[in-house]
Amino acid sequence: MDPQEFDRLLSKYADVVVQVGLNLRNEQRLSVRAILDDAPFIRKVTESAYKAGARYVDVMWTDEPSYRTYMEYADDEALTEIPDWILTRYEEYYKRGDAELAIHSSNPDLLEGIDPDRIAKSSKARLEKLVGPLQKYENASNWCVAATATPSWARKVFPAMPVEEAQTKLWQEIFKACRIDVPDPVNAWKVHTWNLEKYRDYLNNKSYTALHYKAPGTDLTIGLPKNQAWCGAQESFKNGITCTVNIPTEEVFTAPHKDKADGVVTSSRPLNLLGTLIEDFSLSFENGRIVKITAKKGEADLRKLTEMDENASRLGEVALVPNSSPISQSGILFYNTLFDENAASHIALGNAYRTSIKSGIDMTDEEFAAEGGNKSLVHTDFMIGSAEMDIDGITEDGTREPVMRAGEWAFEV
Ligand code: ZN
Ligand code: ZN
Repeated sequence: MDPQEFDRLLSKYADVVVQVGLNLRNEQRLSVRAILDDAPFIRKVTESAYKAGARYVDVMWTDEPSYRTYMEYADDEALTEIPDWILTRYEEYYKRGDAELAIHSSNPDLLEGIDPDRIAKSSKARLEKLVGPLQKYENASNWCVAATATPSWARKVFPAMPVEEAQTKLWQEIFKACRIDVPDPVNAWKVHTWNLEKYRDYLNNKSYTALHYKAPGTDLTIGLPKNQAWCGAQESFKNGITCTVNIPTEEVFTAPHKDKADGVVTSSRPLNLLGTLIEDFSLSFENGRIVKITAKKGEADLRKLTEMDENASRLGEVALVPNSSPISQSGILFYNTLFDENAASHIALGNAYRTSIKSGIDMTDEEFAAEGGNKSLVHTDFMIGSAEMDIDGITEDGTREPVMRAGEWAFEV
């Protein structure tokens, strides 16, 4: 790609993340999490944010190779070490209603070969000391997740190419998937959002009691809460801001009922779990809980994930994505959930979003659970959709209606 053209697209991408992804307000502070390889893009985001009136942009950097060194050499006990200021930092931003951007472009093989017990120990400490205490701020303020084409990630996606070429190719795919390579990206996002909201509204009107999934290796019924709320593209926060939390996004989603999944489901794409790939796995459910796990690769890591806490083996999200989505049509396996989850219908193990149940934001934990919402420290999406998947919606009187056929929407909006 011509360097000037790349620079122009990178600036547009930063504008989309700031204006559409975060919908950053004048005078808002912005906290950012990124790895060092993201730096060229973060500089653009910082510029775009200040131009949009940001009061202050604060970036917390991670160096992935140093993190791997820590996971490799740190004393076993030191794997649970998290300095207090990190929690304080997040709390300060959430309490003020500041915006938050996280960049997810990690090396899919970063922790390859590291003892799964060490990885589990470290991530459990992170969940308990950071994610847990911060869960009460889930809907406090506008946030967004995006990604950049880092060399290590590009090498994984396009292994046959020299790394520079692979990185350029991955950037092109990101620009395409995120609707950056069009004359007016911000307007393209308005049209896309409007389109997703039509599917969201249809499903909210139907308010099915359950969805039945059928595909090779999959025969699963997922019950839905009576007061389910389907979401698409945009979410609203307590600080009054509505924004598009994932760039890209192609999904409409809600929460399943935590006690109502029965049957078996087989993954249609690998799952990148904290730097380890889980491949060709199946999960069997009874009354919402996993009763059997099999995987060709990474079974131990997957099992550890489901044992992270009491509800990590229950579902917290059902998301519908047509197989014709642009990301799916690219035919690329991204090894990155932000992209792969937008190529296929998916479900998530663990926590349900409060916004997936009507008035969920204002409920106590007990009220949310009584409605069927799952509470857990983990939320891990995995892909189940394909061109071979049929989904039926089941109404209150037991009638079945086609929702998806051969991976595509089976109704008109
Ligand atoms: Zn999702
Ligand atoms: Zn999810």
